Amino acid sequence: MNIVLFGPPGSGKGTQARRLEKELGWAHVASGDLFRDHFKRRSDLGRMAKRYMDKGRLVPDEVTIGMLKERLLRPDVSAGVLLDGFPRTMAQAEALDRLLAGLRRKVDAVLHIRVSDEELVRRLSGRLICRECQISFHKLSKPFRSCPTDRCQGEFLYQRKDDDPATVRKRLKTYEEQTEPLLDYYDRRGVLVEVAGEGTVEEVFQACLGALEKLDRKARVGDQTAC
Ligand code: AMP
Repeated sequence: MNIVLFGPPGSGKGTQARRLEKELGWAHVASGDLFRDHFKRRSDLGRMAKRYMDKGRLVPDEVTIGMLKERLLRPDVSAGVLLDGFPRTMAQAEALDRLLAGLRRKVDAVLHIRVSDEELVRRLSGRLICRECQISFHKLSKPFRSCPTDRCQGEFLYQRKDDDPATVRKRLKTYEEQTEPLLDYYDRRGVLVEVAGEGTVEEVFQACLGALEKLDRKARVGDQTAC
């Protein structure tokens, strides 16, 4: 399946995508992580993207689409993909459709993780991230200094530059103006599923799994009817 995890910054898309990746074995492709990885490797693309990211603005479509195209052509994506942070504009959504069609695939489901604005600001302004594994923590609920997971130890957690309150407000406005309109696009296609995103990580995870199972059952019934 090709799944888009959709929602504003701080809605938990990355956290849920990592859980779903482990559970289902589909590749987790996060556009923000791809940009940060480019920046870490000091590529021209990374340096250019950082200028937009630090201001809470979207990286231009042609750059983002090119980067995603390259990623989606890698073999690990063939079993299924969990897209996190892409698409964010109508041009990106249309490019994704064309790209998947070329691979005889399509967007099977868009999980819209709903979280209120107050909760988003609370989460993002206290968010700490591990540089190695990208797992996020909160200053109040998980006050670690270094990443406590088994996978990577030692690296200090850091606050993303674009998680400061002014940039968070800008990112939320960008989401409202440029990304939220895509909900209508996917709703008309019948692939949009709403998921309540303010429960515990486990509750939201179960809701995502439940939504995917329901879609899978619906698709099977559709296939049988077609036969
Ligand atoms: P994220 O890690 O998803 O919160 O993304 C961090 C930043 O990367 C965003 O605020 C944008 O500046 C940039 N970015 C990530 N994904 C995209 C995208 N699909 N289109 C344009 N810019 C993006």
